[in-house]
Amino acid sequence: MTIDSSLSALSAGQRSKGVVIMGGTFDPIHHGHLRSAIDLLDKHGFKELRLVPCFQPVHKDRPNVSALQRLDMVRLSIENDSRLCVDDREITREGPSYTIDTLKTIRSEIGESEPLIMVLGTDSFLSLPTWADWWDLTEYCHIVVVARPGWDSEYISELNAFYENHRALSAIELQSAPAGKVWLETLTPLGISSSMIRNLCRQSLSIAYLLPKAVQEYIDHNQLYK
Ligand code: ATP
Repeated sequence: MTIDSSLSALSAGQRSKGVVIMGGTFDPIHHGHLRSAIDLLDKHGFKELRLVPCFQPVHKDRPNVSALQRLDMVRLSIENDSRLCVDDREITREGPSYTIDTLKTIRSEIGESEPLIMVLGTDSFLSLPTWADWWDLTEYCHIVVVARPGWDSEYISELNAFYENHRALSAIELQSAPAGKVWLETLTPLGISSSMIRNLCRQSLSIAYLLPKAVQEYIDHNQLYK
């Protein structure tokens, strides 16, 4: 497992608290993911954000593009931004990518006291009750839910109880405790999705400006999503 980044170039004094993870299929990664990541770092001053591509999504169809190609695209997308890094543990672990397993290993590496924040779009948050051991996730991390255009945040009843049990009253709680809170966040709303990009490719339409140019070139070069 590797964590690529230039974060090591920062002195300890330049970093604040909080490791953020954004898991995803990233099939492909796009500006909706990346803008949310940067917005979140800017707004709350967390020390790093790790993009964690899954090997085998548990709640979606298996992608046609290989895990290594999706990983390549994530790496290409952040090569100029030192605040973001890639964590490939789910890909090296192989098998179905259960988030609870990922959280347990990251928690054991960063220690008990470091805040760990998992960022999810509204769609992923609403699917939480279908995740393995979902009620235990907040033992290991906070959850930040980013409003995603087109997704109604009316929570299904099962999530209402979960939300009320864990709701943070202020974003400061995300840094003052290591885990346990849920925070709803509104960042730059971008109605971009990976499925939109795959559909455009299938129709041989342009995907320019929806994702980093290097990723677009990788898709073109490897004839992906045709
Ligand atoms: P697909 O269209 O194939 O379902 P996706 O665009 O949702 O893919 P994922 O890799 O599944 O991309 O998403 C990873 C995480 O990023 C999820 O928590 C998802 O909700 C969130 N996310 C994806 N796109 C956006 C966006 N435009 N704005 C905010 N969050 C997003």
